[in-house]
Amino acid sequence: MPVWAETTLGTWGRVHRSRLRAARPPESGAVPDLVRAENDSSVVIHGGGRCYGDASLDTGGQAILTRSLNRIVDFDPAAGEAVCEAGVTFEELSPAIFPHGWCYPVSSATAAVTLGGAFANDIHSKNHHVLGSFGDHTKWVDLALAGGEVVRASPAENPDLYFASLGGMGLTGAVLRVCIRLMPIPSNSVDARYVPYPDLDAMLDAINGGRETEEFLFGWVDVFARGPALGRGILESGRLAAADEGCVPPPKPRSIPFAPPTGPFLAPAMRRAARRRHEKLPPRGAEVRKDLFSFLFPLDHVKGFNKLYGRSGFYSIHAGFPPAAERAGIRAMLEEIAAAQAGSITAVVKPMRGPGRGLMSFPIEGMVLAADLPRRRDTPGLHSRLEALVLDHGGRLYVAKDALMSSDGFARMFPNLPAFRAALERFDPNGRFQSDLARRLRIRG
Ligand SMILES: Cc1cc2nc3c(=O)[nH]c(=O)nc-3n(C[C@H](O)[C@H](O)[C@H](O)COP(=O)(O)OP(=O)(O)OC[C@H]3O[C@@H](n4cnc5c(N)ncnc54)[C@H](O)[C@@H]3O)c2cc1C
Repeated sequence: MPVWAETTLGTWGRVHRSRLRAARPPESGAVPDLVRAENDSSVVIHGGGRCYGDASLDTGGQAILTRSLNRIVDFDPAAGEAVCEAGVTFEELSPAIFPHGWCYPVSSATAAVTLGGAFANDIHSKNHHVLGSFGDHTKWVDLALAGGEVVRASPAENPDLYFASLGGMGLTGAVLRVCIRLMPIPSNSVDARYVPYPDLDAMLDAINGGRETEEFLFGWVDVFARGPALGRGILESGRLAAADEGCVPPPKPRSIPFAPPTGPFLAPAMRRAARRRHEKLPPRGAEVRKDLFSFLFPLDHVKGFNKLYGRSGFYSIHAGFPPAAERAGIRAMLEEIAAAQAGSITAVVKPMRGPGRGLMSFPIEGMVLAADLPRRRDTPGLHSRLEALVLDHGGRLYVAKDALMSSDGFARMFPNLPAFRAALERFDPNGRFQSDLARRLRIRG
């Protein structure tokens, strides 16, 4: 039986650090005992730790660390299916399946995310408008429930448990194994196109115009641009390439060794970088054949990218808007962010095709705006103004990237919350699974 040891855990935004007791199961068979043990304390499941805020922390409680559960249990190249332990990351899965002509259909923008974490947040990628979210490609999962029993759940088998757990933030149980349906790939390359757009309307028109033709669609936005240039950016589109010939080599790995001090230099430096990125491209854009892995995970070649915001860390805001409000909602948010000069190294807009299948899945039909918010004294105030704007426009925030959303706002954004609470009451009546996020948002009521 693995031992619980006092430790400190953090997450991607580098704002939250929790003291708790953690255990690292050597194999998935050890998880039920850990879940059952010491029922007087709460427990959180901690995967790759790539959520931005407090979703995989349980201050003063316990954490089950799943990265040790990293075995690919079965890969069937004929059927295009893979069964993996929940701690397998996209980075670990890729070399096992890419050479056989298969890829996972949905991933996040970093390969360090685990499949358990991907399921628990029903993650979406830059191809959501075509392929939907992670749960659209999950055949089944095995979960360890609060009482220690292991249950298989799928849309057909224990569907109530399945749809509560998909996007359920790890609160229904610990995912032990995931079976995913893979996507065939003709090569290991993507034909990518980068085109600059001068303002938000042009950018959103181009994204909506590409929904039917492009496999991947994603806009990089310069959040410093104001006035007529508000929302200007670079549209990245892509299609799986027929062959690897002519593919440019992946960028050289770099690393940020330490967090620089923050201060008055951060925003101007980011503003210059955003302008340079935009001006470097010819007005008609550029095309390049890229290797699939670095196309899917563009930030991963800079190790420690999250240190760039300095020692104070950063928050994020990731908002989805329905089609009728996407233009007005994104415009209002960008105006607020630009006025606060709360610059972001990466800010993106991307299209979504419709709701995820989980009770608490984030995706809806419409458009997403995501931006980092460097941590400053005025950031909580800025975030609450942004949250109000999102609510006014009928949108919602993505919990995986949030740390400041209010519990009232959360309840208004996720109408399935009462049904989710009923599922938690059924599958974990004593509230064994907890997290700092669940307490902050009063998810259990
Ligand atoms: C650089 C970067 C880019 C990103 N890009 C995207 C993106 O494009 N699209 C997107 O949707 N998200 C994106 N994310 C967010 C990320 O995909 C999610 O936060 C994801 O859930 C993180 O998974 P993880 O393995 O790191 O889990 P953690 O961060 O450790 O945990 C996240 C949540 O999942 C739960 N969890 C983890 N493992 C399990 C398990 N085995 N069983 C039950 N619950 C579990 C945790 O309890 C917690 O609630 C990005 C994050 C980063 C840092």
